[in-house]
Amino acid sequence: MYDYIIIGGGSAGAVMANRLSANPDNQVLLLEAGPSDRHPFIHMPAGVVELLKADKLNWYFSTAPEPELLGRRLYWPRGRVLGGTSAMNGMVYIRGHRNDYDRWAALPGCEGWHYDEVLPYFRQSEYFPEGDTEWHGHEGELGVSRLKQKLALFQTFVDAAEQAGYPRTGDFNGAEQEGAGPYDVTIRDGVRQSTARCFLPKAVRRRPNLEILTNARALALLTDGKRVHGVQVAHDNRQPCFYARRETLLCAGAVQSPQLLLLSGIGDPEELERHNIPLRHKLPGVGKNLQDHLDVSVQHFATTTETLYANARPPRNILTLLRYLLTHGGAAASNGIETGAFLKTSHAGEEPDIQLHFIPAFMLDHARQEAPGHGFMLHACQLRPQSRGEIGLWSADPLAPPRIQPRYLSAPGDLEVMVEAVKICRRIFAAKAFDAVRGEEHMPGPGVEDDAAIAEFIRRHAETIYHPVGTCRMGAAGDPEAVVDNQCRVHGLEGLRVVDASIMPQLPGGNTNAPTIMIAERIAALITGKAPA
Ligand SMILES: Cc1cc2nc3c(=O)[nH]c(=O)nc-3n(C[C@H](O)[C@H](O)[C@H](O)COP(=O)(O)OP(=O)(O)OC[C@H]3O[C@@H](n4cnc5c(N)ncnc54)[C@H](O)[C@@H]3O)c2cc1C
Repeated sequence: MYDYIIIGGGSAGAVMANRLSANPDNQVLLLEAGPSDRHPFIHMPAGVVELLKADKLNWYFSTAPEPELLGRRLYWPRGRVLGGTSAMNGMVYIRGHRNDYDRWAALPGCEGWHYDEVLPYFRQSEYFPEGDTEWHGHEGELGVSRLKQKLALFQTFVDAAEQAGYPRTGDFNGAEQEGAGPYDVTIRDGVRQSTARCFLPKAVRRRPNLEILTNARALALLTDGKRVHGVQVAHDNRQPCFYARRETLLCAGAVQSPQLLLLSGIGDPEELERHNIPLRHKLPGVGKNLQDHLDVSVQHFATTTETLYANARPPRNILTLLRYLLTHGGAAASNGIETGAFLKTSHAGEEPDIQLHFIPAFMLDHARQEAPGHGFMLHACQLRPQSRGEIGLWSADPLAPPRIQPRYLSAPGDLEVMVEAVKICRRIFAAKAFDAVRGEEHMPGPGVEDDAAIAEFIRRHAETIYHPVGTCRMGAAGDPEAVVDNQCRVHGLEGLRVVDASIMPQLPGGNTNAPTIMIAERIAALITGKAPA
């Protein structure tokens, strides 16, 4: 019996565990399906490419065949380790556009999520070495920094974007998101800032009122249909039940929070019936409203050897590793994504509608495919797609993977934005700044010129840039697709909140780690009475 049980120790769960156990009167249990975060590749920023290749600390999901992407099944990595996906992500620190949160707050049942209301929670988590400013915090646990861009190509990209007619911006998280410029990253002194490292340091892990159980997979919530009392867990060849006096906090992420609700009989009656799961609480929105950033990349061979490829090849890779182990410096201390851009296509409204990540290397098939040589690439994603998918079940077996159906490009306008994004990437690569280093275009390649050919290229090659949200979305009680209220309490059930990326009603315009941490900060503050309800 605990006061609070947190299921999932990822971006949100680790923050919740820290904040709730700060009060010694609260007995807190954190359950994480994966192991503790000891593996060295987690902490070394360049280790991300190794984490993407292996299923050891990664759920290694695949989607169902995607109808608009020629029936391809897409690879969906997610972290399965303390720290969750923050322990294997690309470390780009972006909050999204202020209008995103203002739009959330304007939706029925989402009051309180206005940008001015959430900015204090972004700042609260943040340790930004350059100091305490209007936009950045200096007192938080999450180290956020700017890398030094030792590789000239990072700056070449920003210069080229300017030459192609796009603005520069000095801080994507500051007053003006639009433009090309430097990324803030969750790296501090050369070390990845996963939420496990930042919010669960030794001193927190040793708190007598916090128990962290790793390799503990929640199988089902214990509920009578009115209240959630706790959770049954697979741990150490046993299946113990844990009970929560106050609340169970579901933080298993946008893929597995809805899966666990469905496995527990909470969801759409039709989906439950298909799998012979007894209905405990009707909530048709569970798993619906899945949104993700679909990504396409434009890739060039480089005529310079000053790319990240040099560091990945023997013997330099050994030297890079040694240097990192001795100093926490050198190329392995970078996430490889130090500059990028938020730009407007002709379809954009007031704010940028595409995001570009510049990588001075080929990174093919999520780093699982060998690079063909020195190169550089731009990843482009549409920030606010209209396509909606869903998470469901393949089986009632709690150990089976969930059914992931993003239905990318099912809204026709989305493809048009993606086609224009490819053209924008090409325009930037054609700029003078790249003249000295530009080799042949590798992808889409010289034959892919008109809109139809680019669209076909997108269908054949687009991939996720890993930002699924929305599958337990926030909204008003009467809304059939709403799962939680504006305090993340599950509609119609006592003792249960969902607190992770799944509650976002709409994708923010940017990467999703920082927004998820903000959500956890805000809900923890509400629970502990530090924020007005
Ligand atoms: C490869 C990759 C790169 C990314 N790059 C970036 C980036 O650069 N910047 C950025 O902002 N965002 C990035 N993201 C996205 C971002 O990291 C996620 O949006 C964010 O981490 C989601 O947090 P969460 O708390 O919702 O879920 P998670 O962090 O995934 O946490 C869920 C946790 O629950 C655990 N869990 C699941 N099921 C169970 C169960 N049944 N029982 C117990 N535990 C369970 C999981 O193991 C996991 O630890 C990236 C994601 C990926 C995959």
